[in-house]
This record gives sequence, structure tokens and C-alpha cells, in this order.
Amino acid sequence: MRRWLVHREVPSPNWNERKCPVSMVVLHYTGMESAQAALDRLCDPAAEVSAHYLIDEDGTVTGLVDEAKRAWHAGRGSWRGITDVNSASVGIELVNPGHEFGYRPFPDAQIEALLPLLADIVKRHNVPRANVVGHSDIAPARKEDPGELFPWELIARHHLCLPTPKRAAASFVKLRMSGGKAEESPGSTKQGWRVTPAGPEAHAKGQGKVPQRADR
Ligand SMILES: [Zn+2]
Repeated sequence: MRRWLVHREVPSPNWNERKCPVSMVVLHYTGMESAQAALDRLCDPAAEVSAHYLIDEDGTVTGLVDEAKRAWHAGRGSWRGITDVNSASVGIELVNPGHEFGYRPFPDAQIEALLPLLADIVKRHNVPRANVVGHSDIAPARKEDPGELFPWELIARHHLCLPTPKRAAASFVKLRMSGGKAEESPGSTKQGWRVTPAGPEAHAKGQGKVPQRADR
């Protein structure tokens, strides 16, 4: 952990030992009503969730779990052959109420704090751009964070992710962002690639949502 990129440390008890080296970064939104509620939950032993870093909307970066340890943020999911995503990834939570509590744009200060932190993580662990993904990329059936307002294009311009995620270099198919809708080629069985919802009904209460659960 690079001290100058992290403003404070609030150690979370929710971690265990990694089973493999870091090769991914997973980005999330907190999806809770307040930053404090999110921090409390990420440090609550009963919740069994955590992340390595939490970035507030004002750009304050909180270190929660040592990068050498396995934080519990990804849950069930997979990416390019990696099935224990928690073991293979650094998890970053961005404070945002999310679709349940009032999804809103990620402020510049928050993204300006994320960029150098992400660049540092990617460089130290030699993470390929294709492995900097959102929670919705690794668990499309049950997760939608960080959502359509997250500035993937900006992150990609800094060479820190691909403009469009590719689950597998060869077999994954063209995905175009077009008119606010993601299109997948016939034959693709995957869904949820940084999809921009078609409209408000896409987030209708209860639809496609799975109750929050431990992401151990
Ligand atoms: Zn998430």
C-alpha cells in the first residue's frame, strides 16, 4: 500500500489469505445510503464483506485491507478463467448510493483519487488492462455496479482498462455501445457487460436484484 495515495486506514477484520497472486482489479460502488454506513458495513465482522480501498465522493481514500491479503468483495463470479476473484484481485469500493438509493454521477474528486491509486496498483502487480473490470463484469447476473455512470472511457484513456471488457480474447464477441444499449453478437451467452440500462424500468424495484449478501 502506497501511503501517499491512501489518506487514512480503517482496518477491516474481513479478510483471509490469498490463494494466488494479484492479477485483477475489481471496481464497485458501495450501494448504501451513506459513506459511513458503507464503511461500517465493510468493517463489520458479521457482514463478511470488505474491500482493499474505499474512495469517498470527496476523494478521501481509506485503506481497509492490506493488498497482500484476500478481501471479500467479489463473491461468486469469474473472469477469464479466474474463479476465485477475491484471491486474484484488488477490490476498490467507490462511495455511491447506487441504483437502490439514488444512483448519481461519480464526482471528479472521487475519480481523480481513483486514477493514481489504480495506476499504482496496476503497475505494482502488472495487471493487464483487460483485467481491470467492474463487479458487473464478473457477476453479470447478480451485480450492476459500478454502473453506467462510471467513466470507463476516461479510465481507458489513461490506459488502465479496455474501453470494452473482453471476457476471453478469442471467443468473446463484438460488443458495441450503441444508443445507450449494449449489443452482443449472436451466440454470446454472456450478459451484463457494462450495460447501459434501456430505461428507468431496467432498475424497477426487485427486478434482477439479488439481496445483498456476503461476498466472501
Ligand atoms: Zn460490488
